[in-house]
Amino acid sequence: MMIRIGSLLTIIILLIACRSNEQGQDEKMVEQTVSVKAVVKDTIRESYLSKDYLMGKFDPATHKSFSKIDAEFTKKDAIYMRTDAYEAFKEMAKSAEEVGITFNIISATRPFYYQKGIWERKWTGVTKVSGKDLTKSHPGFKQRALKILEYSSMPGTSRHHWGTDIDLNNLENDYFESGKGLKEYEWLQANARSFGFCQVYSEKGAERPYGYNLEKWHWSYLPVASKLTNFAQTQMNNKDIKGFDGDNTTDSIDVINKYILGINPNCN
Ligand SMILES: [Zn+2]
Repeated sequence: MMIRIGSLLTIIILLIACRSNEQGQDEKMVEQTVSVKAVVKDTIRESYLSKDYLMGKFDPATHKSFSKIDAEFTKKDAIYMRTDAYEAFKEMAKSAEEVGITFNIISATRPFYYQKGIWERKWTGVTKVSGKDLTKSHPGFKQRALKILEYSSMPGTSRHHWGTDIDLNNLENDYFESGKGLKEYEWLQANARSFGFCQVYSEKGAERPYGYNLEKWHWSYLPVASKLTNFAQTQMNNKDIKGFDGDNTTDSIDVINKYILGINPNCN
């Protein structure tokens, strides 16, 4: 019996020792978790300055810096933009509403793999471009890429990858040239900048010789987007833009300078 009580005491003492050791570890874990969280938070703040982010190689639906756009602002089921850009957009929309203008976001973040799908269907002739199978009409890779670039972004070069850029109200320039559309466009031209937004695909010409065509509907949130264009200019080269059919054309086309950086010079 004595032995049994002795063993029982030993077990109890051991259990208490284990418990207090666990508690100590728990405290340490809490401390570590807090410091890891602080580091993660810091990293997230600037985590968009990476090649993968710039090329849209992430999922906006699960990314911590992104928010789903409310039904009030879009007819789409599940489209996302960066939370900082979205907050600025909501302020802008509130201000526009005071003069009877409403915004409908037609498109926001489009990941790399989405764009790769569009691009490769055109590249392989599955989707016709101007009624043509490009594998036959444009057998040369560079010419084929340039043809697709007239209508679609090359994967990795679209500002829609960034969560900062949105298409508003209508995808035809004509719409913004009269009546309701003109009123909306004039309001945006006068006011969007004060909320951080700029029309990056302005008229092409002497001021903007290269890049995607005129898009009066496409507005970019510069406080974040400018850092990304600067990152592309200083940290990337054309060969980084890869992972799709025809990616061996990026150097000869000079996609970084001509397309990523080929924007309205007033949007810096
Ligand atoms: Zn757009």
